[in-house]
Amino acid sequence: MDLHEYQGKEILDSFGVRIQRGIVAHNAKEAVEAAKQLTAETGTGWHVIKAQVHAGGRGKGGGVKLAKNLKEVEQIAGEIIGMNLVTPQTSAAGKKVHQVLVTEDVYYPGDSETSEFYMSVLLNRATGRNMVMYSTEGGMDIEEVADKTPHLIYTEEIDPSMGLMPFQARKIAFNLGLSGTAFKEMTKFVMALYKAYSESDASMFEINPVLKTSDDKIMAVDAKVSIDDNALFRRKKYAEMRDLREENPIEVEARAVGLNYVDLDGNVGCMVNGAGLAMATMDLIKMAGGEPANFLDVGGTADAKRVEEAFRIILKDDGVKAILINIFGGIVRCDRVAQGVVDAYKNMGDAMKVPIIVRLQGTNAELAKEIIDNSGLAVQSAVQFKEAADKVKAVLS
Ligand code: GDP
Ligand code: MN
Repeated sequence: MDLHEYQGKEILDSFGVRIQRGIVAHNAKEAVEAAKQLTAETGTGWHVIKAQVHAGGRGKGGGVKLAKNLKEVEQIAGEIIGMNLVTPQTSAAGKKVHQVLVTEDVYYPGDSETSEFYMSVLLNRATGRNMVMYSTEGGMDIEEVADKTPHLIYTEEIDPSMGLMPFQARKIAFNLGLSGTAFKEMTKFVMALYKAYSESDASMFEINPVLKTSDDKIMAVDAKVSIDDNALFRRKKYAEMRDLREENPIEVEARAVGLNYVDLDGNVGCMVNGAGLAMATMDLIKMAGGEPANFLDVGGTADAKRVEEAFRIILKDDGVKAILINIFGGIVRCDRVAQGVVDAYKNMGDAMKVPIIVRLQGTNAELAKEIIDNSGLAVQSAVQFKEAADKVKAVLS
């Protein structure tokens, strides 16, 4: 689950990580009030207005702007709220901005003493360990840094039994070229950041930029945070931060009925039990010359009700031209699944607009094939993977 910048900063703040101060506003008037309050609290004269959407690269898309007085705060907030923000990380349609974060300005004009760093904490899947990834090249696209100057990206692997050790935090501060007060601040920053990451069950904390101010404070200017969905049951406070407006509406609906669904761009919908078989089925669709329209794991039960729910979710995607059902009947018997498919299909009535190919393997597979073949519906059965692929190819052409 992704969070907004302001929510990520709230978590950071609660773990003692220094942040650029900010207040959320939903309209221009609130933005002005927020700016006044920030001036009273921090003494800042200038403010930054930042679009709150689940996408990076907001600065490049015109979603982060400096306001030098209250009139500009009002004007810029008015422009940004309600706009469709297009950034390098959104689709061409962009994302609608519902709220902005009004922040203190922490950069001072003509100040050569500030520097921007990149820092993230995430899981290194290759080693199965958490790591701190960091770079002197902050404020820029980290993908671009990785591409052009990979030697400027450092990683520090964390031993799961020890956690991040103080000597590692010192090494990071040293590699970032810091000394004196800034060095000490950075070690504190890194230790607190790692604590925030591990104690919130996050899968990522990305702070870009981390700023060193001219008076040697280290602070988070941006925060991109993802919390592990599987941990939300024990992180109620963070679960409440979910903003469904930012998520794919079909995925939101699928989650509500307990289906494991990921929306993709292709033309063949698929319904599978088990994540591994679902991955293999997506490969199968590609081999048949199609593109998967989704990833969908229906899980252990595949009765008529569940199959129908899955059909309805899959068909919400207008791009779907065919549906491939690939179910292994181990505990669940294939004939029961086949009957479920037939019943669900009939229940759908006119809503079922595309051909269906069903591959059922496992207990009572022969019986299942009979049920499908004798149903009189536009449902084709297949036994082998290859056969299923050929039938998908045939209905697409
Ligand atoms: P992103 O573009 O979505 O990554 O959003 P960021 O929060 O990283 O902001 C984009 C850029 O705005 C940063 O890289 C900074 O250079 C700039 N920025 C952020 N805060 C301030 C500020 O307080 N003052 C000034 N002048 N620039 C800022
Ligand atoms: Mn950023």
